Amino acid sequence: MANLLLVEDDVTIRIALTKGLRERGHAVSSASTALDGLRGTVDDRPDLVVLDLGLPDLDGLEMLRMLRAVSQVPVIVATARDGDPAMVGALDAGADDYVVKPFTAAQLDARIRAVLRRSGDSRADDSVTVGTLRLDPRSREATLDGAPLDLTPREFDLLHYLAARPGEVIGKRELLTQVWQIPYGGADKTVDVHLSWLRRKLGETAQSPRYLFTVRGVGVKLAPPPAGS
Ligand code: CA
Repeated sequence: MANLLLVEDDVTIRIALTKGLRERGHAVSSASTALDGLRGTVDDRPDLVVLDLGLPDLDGLEMLRMLRAVSQVPVIVATARDGDPAMVGALDAGADDYVVKPFTAAQLDARIRAVLRRSGDSRADDSVTVGTLRLDPRSREATLDGAPLDLTPREFDLLHYLAARPGEVIGKRELLTQVWQIPYGGADKTVDVHLSWLRRKLGETAQSPRYLFTVRGVGVKLAPPPAGS
């Protein structure tokens, strides 16, 4: 999985998260101060940094700005309360995502995987085939069962993003961020509406899907049609 650096001064949280993330296959090193965290980022070159915003020596935001001056490593910030103004500042200062305490290692792991998937994305230009669905982003051509699909640019991008990750459940927030480039917002309906248009063009419905499977409360995945459909 990933090499993670956890910057957290609370020893109980640090030990619990280190253990939980290791159990999920990550290599985890940790630091209890901002300066140690900066040193660790530069020396160990982790794949991702989890940064507590409440550190004893430096303001977490200050540390994030210093870190961004020397590294483009993905950063997830941890904040003690929802609606923390420091969280908005952290996103402005270049954090990739955030979690609100208390959170579990499983929740953090899901965020880590989503951030790494986005940041390491080399699939944007690859043509993809899932079942009899084919998409070529260079020519912007899509076909289903050999027949061309008439998609809007946004529909094409959405379908390609999902088809490049067959079988993976993708959350609406990730789709808004990656397909619409809307950083954070509650515009879930946008995704739903486009998915329903896509379903119509693919000749399927939410009730009897062939390719687009909604996972209630989580997101949507694109997968080959079930056998016999
Ligand atoms: Ca703290």
